[in-house]
Amino acid sequence: MKYPKIREIVEAVKAVVKGPYTSKFPAEPHIAHPNFRGQPVFDQDKCLGCLACEECCPSEAITHEDILEGPGAPKRVMIHHTDDCIYCGVCVDACIRETGDTGIVQTNDWNLAYFDRSKAFETIEKDLQLCEVCGVIIGTKDHLVWIAEKLGELSFSNPTLYLSRLRKLGLADDNIQAVLEDNGRSDRVKILCAECRRKTTLYE
Ligand code: SF4
Ligand code: SF4
Repeated sequence: MKYPKIREIVEAVKAVVKGPYTSKFPAEPHIAHPNFRGQPVFDQDKCLGCLACEECCPSEAITHEDILEGPGAPKRVMIHHTDDCIYCGVCVDACIRETGDTGIVQTNDWNLAYFDRSKAFETIEKDLQLCEVCGVIIGTKDHLVWIAEKLGELSFSNPTLYLSRLRKLGLADDNIQAVLEDNGRSDRVKILCAECRRKTTLYE
């Protein structure tokens, strides 16, 4: 007869005292461990819509759509496809915002069964900034303000950045453009894409 080892006896006694490790799911809801890596979710206020997480996602579970017409436009819709997600957490690591303040956070939500797979996604929306001359997409307004704040006084070398920040603070409005319009210089105080900025700087 083979006798159990002491370690196995200790584990057996612990199990009797503590109760079973398994839960009674589905009879009772299962509460996952706080560190369990479950579904990531966007934070509407913290996400900048920069697309870094989309670039890094190994299973292409993050996509976006830029909507230029209709209610709320222009806007960027960030989409997380929960049925494609493998809960690896790369998006959280890749987020350009600081750890603990990321635009996407990983929850311990694991119960993600759907009857209709077409509904297996979540979205957030961010305001887009278009070039005020040619209309091309520059990025999201929040992203531009975030870059300007990161750069601090260095952002004063880039009118698109410091104007984005001034507008967010309510310190710059259309009056500035109206004042300069008479002299044909109003483009200098507009938010422009790189190409239009180059033209206003080099050609005017
Ligand atoms: S957890 Fe991984 S698979 Fe899921 S969205 Fe983030 S990067 Fe993509
Ligand atoms: S701020 Fe973070 S979560 Fe939002 S789009 Fe950029 S990388 Fe993704």
